Amino acid sequence: MKKHNFSAGPCILPQSVMQKASEAIVNFNNLNLSLIEISHRSKDFVEVMENARNLSLELLGLQGKGYKALFLHGGASMEFLMVAFNLLEKKSAYLNTGTWSDKAINEAKLLGNIVEVASSKDHNFNYIPKNYTIPSDVDYFHCTSNNTIFGTQINDFQKTAVVKVCDMSSDIFSRQMDFSQFDLIYAGAQKNMGPAGTTLVIIKEDILGKVSRTIPSMLDYQVHIEKDSMYNTPAVFPVYVSMLTLEWLKNLGGISEIEKINNKKAELLYSEIDKNPLFKGFVSQKEDRSKMNATFNLTDSSLENQFNTLWTEAGINGLKGHRSVGGFRASMYNALPLESVQVLVDVMKELERTA
Ligand SMILES: *Cc1c(COP(=O)(O)O)cnc(C)c1O
Repeated sequence: MKKHNFSAGPCILPQSVMQKASEAIVNFNNLNLSLIEISHRSKDFVEVMENARNLSLELLGLQGKGYKALFLHGGASMEFLMVAFNLLEKKSAYLNTGTWSDKAINEAKLLGNIVEVASSKDHNFNYIPKNYTIPSDVDYFHCTSNNTIFGTQINDFQKTAVVKVCDMSSDIFSRQMDFSQFDLIYAGAQKNMGPAGTTLVIIKEDILGKVSRTIPSMLDYQVHIEKDSMYNTPAVFPVYVSMLTLEWLKNLGGISEIEKINNKKAELLYSEIDKNPLFKGFVSQKEDRSKMNATFNLTDSSLENQFNTLWTEAGINGLKGHRSVGGFRASMYNALPLESVQVLVDVMKELERTA
């Protein structure tokens, strides 16, 4: 039986997507060829790329609004650098809400001055800073919508007149919002969209071309836009699987429908964390809790082995917390069914009964 997969990334994908993807490895589109042995310039693959790019914009409600979607290499970590290469002339502002923002800041520092508008490092990133000021004289403002490791999520994005960039690696396509408030969104595929190996980048075209430096071709968004995301060989399989997941999401009713399910899953788990005296949430303020990655601890660490045995026997995978936080982390990405969260909650109740 398929395990209840709470892995933080790479992570669970819809079972129907896995099935179709595995068939395409053997025989793609009835070509009697594998998806991974045909030219990326063939009509069949160009269609996949176009579909994946269009679906991304469509699901985010960004079609016809001056945005381009790209599927690039190098993970979200490469975007930390590319964003700076393409947008940072002198100074930019970053909100530091965790390891990933921290890394983004360090890359950008290679190319200019960085103002950290606020940071929650003082409390091991267990909250989202609020009431900070974004300076008006910066080239852009960068934030991370969901902090995969610490389990916090931004609910109120501050309004600003400067270019707004967001790392949405771990919650893109999971909740509704006005995506047009952002000028650049990026997300590594392996958290909520596909296998590792490709990164979705959504850019408002008019923010480009404003820096004076020479940008290496592979790091230049304009080069990738001009070549329809085919400047070099794209990650054909990850792009194909991402396309299938986006189709799956569209057929389900899009982001508004998946958000309802995601809210139910988060509500179910957090209410057990709050109710059950054996558990304590890691995030200090409830309003900052991530609906994608729930981080929690045992109140009595001597129960760890017992809890680990119970959830492992229940067919649960990937519950161990990140090494910088400890405890447990339940990642509830789009493809994780509500039933899996129920199984986890039942295990938590079982521990309370038997401990
Ligand atoms: C996982 C993750 C990254 C890093 O992604 P890579 O694709 O491994 O480079 C960056 N930002 C966030 C928010 C993440 O969750």
